[in-house]
Parts: sequence; C-alpha cells; structure tokens
Amino acid sequence: LSERLNKAIKNISGQGKLTEKNMNDMLREVRMSLLEADVNYGVVKDFIERVKEKALGQEVLDSLNPSQMVVKIVHDELQELLGQSDAKLHLKPNGLSTIMMVGLQGTGKTTASAKIARFAKQKLKKRVLLVACDVVRPAAIEQLQTLGKQIDVEVFSLGAQTSAIETARKALQYANEHQKDLVIFDTAGRLHIDEELMDELKEMKEIVHPDDILLTVDAMTGQDIVTVAKEFNEQLQITGLVVTKMDGDARGGGLLSVRTITDVPVMFVSNGEKVEDLEEFHPDRMADRILGMGDILTLVEQAQDKMDMEIQKKAVERMQEGIFTFNDLLDQYKQVKKMGSMQNVMKMIPGLNKLGAQIDDEQVDAGVKKNEAIIHSMTPYEREHPNCLKASRKSRIAKGAGVKVMDVNRLISQVEQMQTLTKMMKSGKMPDFGAMQRG
Ligand code: GDP
Ligand code: MG
Repeated sequence: LSERLNKAIKNISGQGKLTEKNMNDMLREVRMSLLEADVNYGVVKDFIERVKEKALGQEVLDSLNPSQMVVKIVHDELQELLGQSDAKLHLKPNGLSTIMMVGLQGTGKTTASAKIARFAKQKLKKRVLLVACDVVRPAAIEQLQTLGKQIDVEVFSLGAQTSAIETARKALQYANEHQKDLVIFDTAGRLHIDEELMDELKEMKEIVHPDDILLTVDAMTGQDIVTVAKEFNEQLQITGLVVTKMDGDARGGGLLSVRTITDVPVMFVSNGEKVEDLEEFHPDRMADRILGMGDILTLVEQAQDKMDMEIQKKAVERMQEGIFTFNDLLDQYKQVKKMGSMQNVMKMIPGLNKLGAQIDDEQVDAGVKKNEAIIHSMTPYEREHPNCLKASRKSRIAKGAGVKVMDVNRLISQVEQMQTLTKMMKSGKMPDFGAMQRG
C-alpha cells in the first residue's frame, strides 16, 4: 500500500501548493491503495469523500507543506475509522467476569484465549481460569492444556465426552468455588458459519452471561472478515475483535472495513504463535501500519530538506560574485538529485516547465554521472580553477574518469558557459529566460 502512496506523495511534494488537481491525483492513489489492501469498496468511497472535504478546506490550500497535510488528514481519518481511542475489556472491577472466545476454525481462538489469559493475569492481576469448550476436536483440549501450563494458568475440562454447554456450566461453579475472578471460554469453530454452531454459542451465552464476547478474525483472509464479523455480530452481539496473524504481511485492510461496518472495536492484535505475541490495539499505530507511515514520514522529511538552505545560499553568493567552478556544478548536481529529477526541478520554475517536459531524465542522469566522474578525477585546485586545464591535465583527468578527452572538453565548456552567465548576472545583464523558452 505504501508504495503507491509514496509515489503519489513524491509527486505532490515537488509542488508548492495543494490544488484540487493534485489533491485528486493523490486521492486516486489512496483509493487504489486501500482497495488493494482489501478495504471494502463502500468504506473506501466514504473515506475518500471525507478526506477530500477536509483537505480542500482553505487552511490546507494555503499550506506550505501540502504533502504533509494530506498524509496527516489521511492518517487522522484512518485512525477515526479504526476507532478513536483504545477499546478496553468490559470486565467487572470485582467478582467473577467472563469472556467467550468465538470464531471460525483455525482463526486462532485457542491461541488467543491463552494469550488473553496471560495478559489478564499479568497486567490486570486477575485469577484466571481457562475453559476448554471445544469438544469437537479432542486435540483442542490438549492444546489448551499445553498453553495453560506455559503461562501457569489453570485449565478446566471435563473431557471430550461432556458437551460444551455442560462444561461451561460446571466451569462457572468451579470458578466460584476457587475464587477465580476471570473465566475465559475457548469454544469450537467451524470452517464456515452454520446454524448448529451459532445455536450452541447462543446457548452458552445464556449460561455464561459474558462480559465480553471476542471474535477472532484472521488478518490474512482479507474482505471475508467483514462477512464473518457481520454474521457473528448479528447473532451474538460481539463486544470486540481479536485480529490474529498480523505477523504475516497482511496490511490490515480487511480490519478497517470490519470496524466501520460492524462498529465493533478491535481490542487485541495477535502477531505470532508464541503466548507473548499479543498487543492491545492502538488505532493510531494501526493507521501508521496501514499507511506504511514509517516510509511516508521519511519522505515528508526528505521533501522538507530537499533544498539544503546552506548550499543554496552559498551558491547564490558565489554567482553574485561572478564565480562558477566545477565545485559549484557538483553542488548543483547534488541539489537536483535531492529534487528527484531534472524534470521536477524544471516544473517548479515558472516559465521553464514546458522545457522540463522535453527532458529525458535517464539521459540527463547518465550525463550527470559522467560529469561527476570527471570532476572527481580533478585535483582540488583544478576544480576551483577551470582555466588551468591544458592538454596534459585534460588527458590525465580523462584517463582517471574513464572517458574521452572530448567529454572533458565538453564539461569544461559547460562550466565556462555558466561562468559567462554568472558574470553577466554580476554586471546586471540578466539573461532572458523567456526568450530561451520561446526559442
Ligand atoms: P482455533 O481453531 O481458532 O482455536 O485456532 P488456533 O488457536 O488453534 O490457531 C490455529 C493456528 O494458527 C495454530 O497453528 C496457531 O499456532 C496459529 N496462530 C494463531 N494465532 C497466530 C498468530 O497471531 N500468528 C501466527 N503466525 N499464527 C497464529
Ligand atoms: Mg481451537
């Protein structure tokens, strides 16, 4: 996702102001990025509308840093989509609280049950009981018991012969008798939503009166998350999402849609197979991740110091003195590189933008590399005194740079032309750039 967006931002950051046109260009990229990241179409549409509305407000139009503004607006809106503040479990401050874990098979219920048990024990200082209510797969009970040992949390099970409902009922009794204050019920899943599963879960809900029903959704499954979450929510009124397998390369686009469509907050993110791989969900960090913000912030910074003010000032001063040497040319090359390309530089100079469109950046690039090699083969004295370059020096430099003497001559005449120009500037005879463009 960030790649597209970075490109769009790069384009916009070369331009001084945010206009409706470059705004639209950028938002088109944002839209594509979100769709590619598996965000639901309707969600994307609304999102773009809102960003546009905000961005075209006049503060932004007058902004000197359009790319930064757009990134910020997109980021803020994403965060809002994801839920403005961190969602917390609804556990009772005193007495017995209960959590039901639900979700499709393989989405990570059992793993997440143990992770949340560990979290509640360590962070919330709860006396936790894990309950193995997945009696469909015998291995599931064993799996939970193994995890329970790892985190030193007791696991309640009556074996695969006892029904999930009966197990839940007995577990509550046991928890009360043993002064537990949080019971987490791991339940069975199915590959697809079916009535039998939903009925069982509803019945369990009646018995358990859960303070939280958490749905595990697999980040890797993209937009399917939305359908599943909607269905579970309608049947069971879930209170929070646990997004699992965020350690894969899923960007979390599906997640964005879930939050918007079901209005159920994400509470935890599971990002690994180990019991400690669980994070409380922070919308701002997720927005960063979806945007690939790390890269983008760097880009914004780069845009800001593209023009190294010191070098600029020095160059202007020297030009005003009528001085232009190989060192000045090197500095100019450096500046151009920071701006991205010669085309971009030309586009920014009013009157020269048409000329810029005719420039072949690759060709310019190759030329610049050659010239840099030549200058690097010169001694410091030679770089500051272009006039000292006679035949023997030229051939030595050409050899050093691996070019022909002809190339050295061409570079020398370029610098001489620039010298002439700067001398004209010094004497007040400004060259007519307008004529250059018309010509
Ligand atoms: P359940 O069927 O919903 O109970 O899912 P499990 O908890 O048994 O998890 C299914 C598989 O996914 C197991 O192999 C887990 O180790 C793995 N798994 C669960 N959560 C994560 C996660 O956050 N990251 C990764 N990489 N694997 C996970
Ligand atoms: Mg399981």
